[in-house]
Amino acid sequence: MSAAATALRAPGAERPVLRERGQREVFCGLTGIVWLHRKMRDAFFLVVGSRTCAHLLQSAAGVMIFAEPRFATAIIDERDLAGMADANAELDRVVARLLERRPDIGLLFLVGSCPSEVIKLDLARAAKRLDRTASPGVRVLHYSGSGIETTFTQGEDACLAALVPEMPAEAPEAPRSLLVVGALAEVVEDQMRRVFAALGIGPVRFLPPRLAAELPPVGPRTDFLLAQPFLAETARVLEERGATRIGAPFPLGAEGTTLWLRAAADAWGVPPARFREATAAGEKRAREAVGRHRAALAGQRVFFFPDSQLEIPMARFLARELGMEPIEVGTPYLHRQHLAEELELLPAGTALSEGQHVERQLDRCRAAKPDLVVCGLGLANPLEAEGIATKWSIELVFTPVQGYDQAGDLAALFTRPLDRRARLRV
Ligand code: SF4
Repeated sequence: MSAAATALRAPGAERPVLRERGQREVFCGLTGIVWLHRKMRDAFFLVVGSRTCAHLLQSAAGVMIFAEPRFATAIIDERDLAGMADANAELDRVVARLLERRPDIGLLFLVGSCPSEVIKLDLARAAKRLDRTASPGVRVLHYSGSGIETTFTQGEDACLAALVPEMPAEAPEAPRSLLVVGALAEVVEDQMRRVFAALGIGPVRFLPPRLAAELPPVGPRTDFLLAQPFLAETARVLEERGATRIGAPFPLGAEGTTLWLRAAADAWGVPPARFREATAAGEKRAREAVGRHRAALAGQRVFFFPDSQLEIPMARFLARELGMEPIEVGTPYLHRQHLAEELELLPAGTALSEGQHVERQLDRCRAAKPDLVVCGLGLANPLEAEGIATKWSIELVFTPVQGYDQAGDLAALFTRPLDRRARLRV
């Protein structure tokens, strides 16, 4: 084994992990703006970046652009890069113009990029300075969406982590509350709210909220459940504020959703009979919807390239609920605590890898001859050209897939590429 790859043992799960370092094929954290700007209706994302950053956002969000999009790019040009212009003065001008034109903005994120990091533009200081001038009407925060050493879902993690210090402290006499952490489609949030209400768990709040002006309180009486596996930094800062994470698998598929809800129910002392009553119908619906895809997917071999950080929960779902065989599950980062419950559920023979050396991984993939590869956009076309069916991992983040009523849609995402390839063969 070379210096670029080492085998580790994941604590809590007796399985080796191949850790690789090398060239990677991933999107950057700016991508998160595509779903975050739709989620928080009074927030605006101002990327401080290059024309490349602007192109990325335009093409990723192209079909979703409304008359007044809630994101834009302040372009750093050659004069800024050469240190010939005062980038801070230019940024102040852009922000003043933006806030004047858009009185609907309640929260402005300055989003760092590779170019802003390269010229060492201090966006933390800029955000503080602009916050002073824009408050009390507008809060100005910052986070980095740079693609240097990150993957695309880290953009959401960085954005939510930036919100945590802004959350009000819970009142000393506040009742115990549950916080669901991770951007979810509103339809999914509403379904979860109903199940938690039936379980007698509440108040239940969500981070991010639908309006940035309605940030939920946090403190020692807050329990939180992660709805996404890529929120390591957000979880860390919530814990710093006194909140307690409830460990659970992620709410993907019938089983995953039940185990996720049960972790909260156990922490809140919900009696088993009440739990069954509140979840049985949803779980049955989900199992039936997923079951309709089983014939197409059972026995198919799937290979995951590291991209979304959803790879391990997805592999668990595909293996346990659809009978697929995960050959290798690659993930950009393996958070051993947050994924402990997932790792326990993965089939024993599944190879795990963390990080990426793309050429070596492609060699392993070709040698394994999988039926389906889950990967980023950059690898999908070349693999399709080689005759391998692929699923874009970014779709797993763009599509509402969490919870009972989305379990069938989640299974369908994996059926479609195999179906398409079968038709092409005819
Ligand atoms: S942040 Fe970096 S990786 Fe992302 S679009 Fe801009 S230059 Fe490219």
